[in-house]
Amino acid sequence: MSEEVAVGKEVLSHCNKCKLPLAHIIVNMKTKTTIGKVTCKTCDATHVYKDPSKVRAKKKATGTRKRKATDSIADLWLEAVSKSEGQEKPYSPKAEFTTGDIIDHSKFGPGVVEKCFDGNKIEVIFRHEIKILMHKL
Ligand SMILES: [Zn+2]
Repeated sequence: MSEEVAVGKEVLSHCNKCKLPLAHIIVNMKTKTTIGKVTCKTCDATHVYKDPSKVRAKKKATGTRKRKATDSIADLWLEAVSKSEGQEKPYSPKAEFTTGDIIDHSKFGPGVVEKCFDGNKIEVIFRHEIKILMHKL
């Protein structure tokens, strides 16, 4: 690609007013190869050139961070399932479970027993939530 950048040429820049990558006309140059200011062909505003690919990259980074926070239980669940060597058992409050067992729950789906406590309670990691269930009833 031999794209020439010079005053008066058209360039794709992120527009602060339109909040979109749009065609701009180069007003001046910082150096021979670095664009200085540009005028938006859509709203006529003159501002500093902003590389649209860099603007988009920033937005993507914040999106990934947000998604990770909400996926933490799913991550925990995935790790527990892959580590577990227990037999998959359908959940029933009358059955007995031990740490590491995989429970097939009719409502919550597959879960892994994280710990047993209070004699008849189990903490189970399901895909979307961690639940305390009863057993040995
Ligand atoms: Zn604009």
